[in-house]
Amino acid sequence: LTAHPGMTRDKVRQLFRQETMPHPNDPKLRSFIDVAPTSDFPIQNLPYGVFSANGLAPRVGVAIGDYVLDLWELEQDSRLDVGPLGVFSQPSLNAFMALGPKVWSATRARISELLRSDHPELRDNRELRARALVPMADVKLHMPFAVSGYTDFYSSKEHATNVGVMFRGKDNALQPNWLHMPIGYNGRASTVVASGTKVKRPRGQLKPPTAEVPSFGPCKRLDFELEMGVVVGQASAMGEMLTEAQAEEMIFGFVILNDWSARDIQQWEYVPLGPFQAKAFATSISPWVVTREALEPFRMQGPVQQPEPLAYLKQVRPNNYDLALDVGLRAGAMNEAKTICSTNFKYMYWSSVQQLVHHASSGCAMNVGDLLGSGTISGPEKHQRGSLLEISWNGTEPVELADGVTRSFLENGDSLVMRGWCQGDGYRVGFGEVEGTIVAAE
Ligand code: MN
Repeated sequence: LTAHPGMTRDKVRQLFRQETMPHPNDPKLRSFIDVAPTSDFPIQNLPYGVFSANGLAPRVGVAIGDYVLDLWELEQDSRLDVGPLGVFSQPSLNAFMALGPKVWSATRARISELLRSDHPELRDNRELRARALVPMADVKLHMPFAVSGYTDFYSSKEHATNVGVMFRGKDNALQPNWLHMPIGYNGRASTVVASGTKVKRPRGQLKPPTAEVPSFGPCKRLDFELEMGVVVGQASAMGEMLTEAQAEEMIFGFVILNDWSARDIQQWEYVPLGPFQAKAFATSISPWVVTREALEPFRMQGPVQQPEPLAYLKQVRPNNYDLALDVGLRAGAMNEAKTICSTNFKYMYWSSVQQLVHHASSGCAMNVGDLLGSGTISGPEKHQRGSLLEISWNGTEPVELADGVTRSFLENGDSLVMRGWCQGDGYRVGFGEVEGTIVAAE
């Protein structure tokens, strides 16, 4: 702007609009902010989160390299206009998500433009840059959205098969319904927490096979489940079914999700209605919501579905993503986490779109801020198992973390870190991490 003192901001804007805008996913785009090739947050990503810094109230920001771009500052400076003022001043993404996919897309394109190395508007405005770009090291990250409802699925064939073999034997590994629909249960939104939140060991009814009667006490078989979470950004009406295209349009983005699980509580309580307290005490999510649009270049065909799904579940588009995931576990005495699982979201049998279609198929209304857990993501190989239940094969093969340190299930003081990213050519679209440390029940 300083280069054109006689021009109004609107005229400058018009001028910039006449350029052919590159797509925000263009791998050639560069930001004026230096971003390392291994960073999760290049200009091709632009994930949304909620942060606070410098004593100011939590608001919406976008991660770029080692910085957070404060969208509320940009909105107040009339650089971002999404319609109603103050959408980015709120401590959640829900108001922004409610505006719909056209606004999501236009906003991402505008943020991309503002951050581009060949676009002077923010680059050359020292004063605005100082206000709007906050070093990541100085911010506290919060829950990115208010969770309306939380549903967890069970959609990895490898995971369901492993668990089935363990408890029912090879011949009955998959239940008869599994290949016909995405199996799920309604979980608790109240205990979905941000990365870094300590997880108190749950208490519950335990009845090991050797005990005659149940007792109440701290869980002894505490586990994690590596999952992706779908963030639903649009509502559907009660009684309304969704097509594949409608379901996809409702998906705002994805987070990494740790569905903490108390295996011993689960084993006793789950008959006949499924998981309850074993899953209700905590679910951790990563702080940045990576948009569906940013994942578009990594879209791919999922596994062949045989038998063919019923008509309402058929998908014509490839709805899986090539998204690498790993899990690190650090026992209290260790300096660094040991990687205990490296897998990929691409293995999921039922896609997120199919899960959402199925979820609404009875007439169940979906809300802005609904969170759908994918189900534990395991792959065909041993190092691709996404839970300790599978890694330690129900406690019979403890995993070695360091000299003399082994684990079958989680101990107090253990810290678990999950990471995820899509690898592009010279850049990665990443999620950051979701971390949780176990603390004693009392
Ligand atoms: Mn789960």
